[in-house]
Amino acid sequence: MSGKGFRTGAVAAALAAALSTAAFVTAAADAGHGPVTVTRSVLSAPATGEPTWSTTASPKPSPRKSSTPPRRQETSSSSAGDGAIRLTFDDGPDPRWTPQILQILTENHATATFFNIGQNAAAYPDLVRQIRAQGSQVANHTWDHPSLPSLGDAAIARQLDRTDAVQGRTPCVRPPYGATSARVRSLIAARGQRQELWDVDTRDWARPGAASIEAQLLAAKPGSTVLMHTGGGDRSQTVTALRDALPKLRAKGIALQGIPGC
Ligand SMILES: [Zn+2]
Repeated sequence: MSGKGFRTGAVAAALAAALSTAAFVTAAADAGHGPVTVTRSVLSAPATGEPTWSTTASPKPSPRKSSTPPRRQETSSSSAGDGAIRLTFDDGPDPRWTPQILQILTENHATATFFNIGQNAAAYPDLVRQIRAQGSQVANHTWDHPSLPSLGDAAIARQLDRTDAVQGRTPCVRPPYGATSARVRSLIAARGQRQELWDVDTRDWARPGAASIEAQLLAAKPGSTVLMHTGGGDRSQTVTALRDALPKLRAKGIALQGIPGC
């Protein structure tokens, strides 16, 4: 079916080539989430909109390329079989948006994988529990959202260890910005964890309007892994899009789940 077809042949080769040569181009998809700023902005000024995501650790990707290629799945697990769409939410947990997203998932008999930032998980341990209680998965999105290829091996290990220490060892890791390398991937694998990226970017981080996010969701094919965000700023558009799109996907008979094995 389509879930297999889109990964095969020339398309897959092109995506693999894009991935190997352009980590920081595609990294724009997950651009600029400084978790310290995020957490503080949520606490002190929840309605002020876009935080000043001026992370120091990340090489600035040339932003907002409309031609951002879709991401190839890094593992075979999520392409195994069934026709579910894999929902993923990065940069949480967030006290304003994560509970709303969990509620919408529950209403739609859906689960997701939440790639949490460690220091946000440390600030909101009850939200980590709520994610798991809802049936969704918790995964590792580093401690404070650096670009991993710019760090040394020990620093990468610290990023992942600190996060695991807060929310438990998780099978899956998503490098911030999707920025990775053969070294980063190997380091993750050597820990017994695995890197998980995405192939559908809703671009919700750019707040393109709920209708645009919804269109991306509705265009996702079974077997796709969809990138969304539950933190990093005002996620009201994401919430609206989910509320509208998930019932429509379910009506088409598409299951909505996290990444298998995460
Ligand atoms: Zn992120």
